Amino acid sequence: MKIFDTVIIGAGAAGLMAAAQLLRRKKAVLILDMGNEPARKVAVSGGGNCNFTNSKADFSHYFGKNPRFVMSALTQFSPHDTLNWAKAHNIKYIEKEPGRYFCRDGAKDILNALLSDLKNTLIKYNTNVIDIEKENDFFTIKTTNGDFYSQSVIVATGGISYPHLLVSSTGQTIAKKFGHKIEPVRPALCAIKTKAFDSELSGISLKAEIIVDKHKIVDDLLFTHFGIGGPAAYRATLINPKEMIINFAPNKNVFELLKSTKQTNGKKSVANVVAEILPNKLAHFFCNDTRNIADLKDGELKQIATRINHFEIMDGTAIGFTSAEVMMGGVSVDKISSKTMESKICPGLFFAGEVMDITGDLGGFNIQWAFSSGFVAGKNAG
Ligand SMILES: Cc1cc2nc3c(=O)[nH]c(=O)nc-3n(C[C@H](O)[C@H](O)[C@H](O)COP(=O)(O)OP(=O)(O)OC[C@H]3O[C@@H](n4cnc5c(N)ncnc54)[C@H](O)[C@@H]3O)c2cc1C
Repeated sequence: MKIFDTVIIGAGAAGLMAAAQLLRRKKAVLILDMGNEPARKVAVSGGGNCNFTNSKADFSHYFGKNPRFVMSALTQFSPHDTLNWAKAHNIKYIEKEPGRYFCRDGAKDILNALLSDLKNTLIKYNTNVIDIEKENDFFTIKTTNGDFYSQSVIVATGGISYPHLLVSSTGQTIAKKFGHKIEPVRPALCAIKTKAFDSELSGISLKAEIIVDKHKIVDDLLFTHFGIGGPAAYRATLINPKEMIINFAPNKNVFELLKSTKQTNGKKSVANVVAEILPNKLAHFFCNDTRNIADLKDGELKQIATRINHFEIMDGTAIGFTSAEVMMGGVSVDKISSKTMESKICPGLFFAGEVMDITGDLGGFNIQWAFSSGFVAGKNAG
């Protein structure tokens, strides 16, 4: 019976990064994955070009019960370390927006770099982990391909979004079994369904400001046939997809603008004035009043302006796990050491990546989290 130093459950970004650190320390490692290829989410990330880090990564870009949990791991393996790692593996990357780094030649470069660090490490694919047990100081990992044994286990099973890539909630089941709390999971970084808009607006995109709880998001917004999408909507799902206020003309006080046009150009139709501010179809959605602007009372102008500058959505729902980029919630970090990623309840049990209740903002923060937490778990397990 072979006893590995560490069995890693999940060959995603977190699990593979952890394995590389274990190998450096000359540990005997086995990686188990239910799918038939490694890092399938990396492959589809960033539209195929993998936005693999963000130089702004700090706790303020993470969500969960305790975002400060990320601080130690992000110091131990920082975005700067990720870029150095990428350079060392000859990955050509581009900074598309300030701080956001993408692969120039495709996400496969990240995948190949992760695999090249693993040399001949055994990855057992099509192996679904069902349960783990701990007796004395050893773990038995029960799978559809038989049992495996190790001194430590890293649970890097990811989230349950994009189910067609083969995902499971087994990581949460294992954590719960060993006494860890599970924060309720929900889909995030996805489009939002709402009845607030006409499906005819589908395809229109513009820069908008979304105020959701105390957060202000300014980013591109896209109308879909069922509601809203694009980065602004995706990011709103991290906070509260249900209730938000959208400003479709950020930096413009539409009421003041309408009032001054009423004074200077009163014969213009109010609909045409609004169409100078917004894309035509959207302008008509907010106002199809053909009267001259001079004929409208200030109160009426105020109503139009409020819809544009302060549009309330009260019925938003995240579209679902099928197309969400990430899962929010998961294994509570309460009883996990932020310095080592080891369970404070069960010595030898480690966690890495999205399986934990840590979710990054759009922009490369999630893969950076997978790398940083995987690095730390791999440095300490076994
Ligand atoms: C479409 C899309 C685009 C994205 N774009 C970006 C981006 O550009 N930048 C960014 O930072 N983030 C992005 N993300 C998020 C990012 O890809 C993930 O947060 C990150 O890859 C998670 O890594 P992980 O290793 O924790 O989990 P995963 O990559 O999900 O790996 C977990 C692995 O565990 C395996 N597993 C699960 N259960 C079991 C089990 N019971 N037995 C055996 N194996 C099991 C799974 O098969 C999987 O291979 C995107 C996600 C999606 C879906």
